[in-house]
Amino acid sequence: MSHLAVILLGAGALGAYMYWAVSGQMLDAVGQRLLDNARLLESSLDIDDIRAFGDRADSAAGERLSQRLRRAVAINPDLSGAYVVEPRSDSLRVLATSQPSAGAASSDYLTIEESELLRRGIERAVISDIRVAASERADLTALSAIGAAPQRYVVGVRLNAESLQRSLRLLRLSTLGALLFGVLLALVLSRLLAERLQRRIRSLGERCQALAAGEPLPVDQLPIGDEFDRVIADFDATAQRLREASAQREAALAALTRANATLEGRVEERTRAIEEATHQLKAEIENRLQVEALLAEAALTDGLTGLLNRRAMLEMLVQAVKASRGQGGFSVILADIDHFKRINDAHGHGVGDQVLAAAAQELEQLQGDNRHAARWGGEEFFVLLPHVGLMDACRRAEELRARIERMPTPVRGLRVTLSLGVAEIQPGEPLEDCLKRCDQALYRAKDAGRNAVVAARGNSFATIS
Ligand code: GH3
Ligand code: MG
Ligand code: MG
Repeated sequence: MSHLAVILLGAGALGAYMYWAVSGQMLDAVGQRLLDNARLLESSLDIDDIRAFGDRADSAAGERLSQRLRRAVAINPDLSGAYVVEPRSDSLRVLATSQPSAGAASSDYLTIEESELLRRGIERAVISDIRVAASERADLTALSAIGAAPQRYVVGVRLNAESLQRSLRLLRLSTLGALLFGVLLALVLSRLLAERLQRRIRSLGERCQALAAGEPLPVDQLPIGDEFDRVIADFDATAQRLREASAQREAALAALTRANATLEGRVEERTRAIEEATHQLKAEIENRLQVEALLAEAALTDGLTGLLNRRAMLEMLVQAVKASRGQGGFSVILADIDHFKRINDAHGHGVGDQVLAAAAQELEQLQGDNRHAARWGGEEFFVLLPHVGLMDACRRAEELRARIERMPTPVRGLRVTLSLGVAEIQPGEPLEDCLKRCDQALYRAKDAGRNAVVAARGNSFATIS
């Protein structure tokens, strides 16, 4: 539409310019022809006739003059009238006109413009203002001087306005026709161009849709060989490149996905292997910890009785000595099975072991735990009593003695007894001294006949039972 508007405006402006230029040229040509006619008429008139009529009122000369003027108008369709005037200083005297009416010509014959022109004085051929006259009234006059000064006459010819108006009308119609033809041509051309444009735009749209849908691009049926063919060819080439790039990207993506899957598989495999190894390692560590715990326990425990061994008890005693320096002391009991060798000898080593285990069990039950009772060696047992004074320790020893005495044995009639020494650590006393006193108390109990409890009170001993 914008193109059409531009074409219409251009055609209108061109038409107007052409009309203005051609009409101007035409008016110039008409004016020039009118001047030529005036000169021609001037040259064909007899100056003697004019003078004869003007000076002496010779009617025959006047008649010849009028006839000459009428003939000139009659044979020339461009002219509507002709006249001869004698300009005087104060007036204009019309000598003859082309009017057929009889009688003397009057100055009323002249138009105002003609009168003004004549009053200004005519030296040579002139024409009234052609543009004003042509555009408003198409009323044009050409004047030509005749005769020599000082008595000069002027010949005037008037344009046939109808002929000029016809020519101008024809020119307007031609210009309008040309303009309409131009507009029509512009409409047809713009329509054709618009259809061509729409077809190519449709073709581009179909290509875009096919590209978006991943379908093959439609074949261009009617290539015209204009810029759009190049645009479509460029579009097709770009689409092709896009598709190739897209295919390459998809292939790369597929390869990447496969590589990812492989990698994930490997990672899973490795993770499983690591988990398995970790699991095995954990089990091994647990196993080792258990073994170490067992070993540690075995290192501190007596295998036959389940009580602490001598080494563990000595550790505890060191700790107890340290603790006794701050808060309270402790007592110890050393117990020895009487005549154990005889049991071994009489019933065998196995029975001896059973007796040892049974005695340990009794000791454990009495203590309530196995943390403070130990197998001191052979058939000897040791009891640590933290925060227990000598008297209470003696009672505990007596209780143990009585329990062992009552203890059932694996051999009918076999009786087991225990001799016990009791001591309480003295403030600042070395552990060895305390143990020595306890040992001495045990010997005293043996000496006292066995199955007895002896307490070490400082360096003296007292038999409890
Ligand atoms: P006493 O009343 O003076 O203590 O006499 P006893 O026989 O108990 O003392 P002795 O020291 O003469 O004998 C201890 C015996 O204990 C000697 C040894 O063979 C035995 N014995 C040591 N340890 C074990 C053991 O683990 N199992 C067995 N069955 N016997 C052991
Ligand atoms: Mg012994
Ligand atoms: Mg013994």
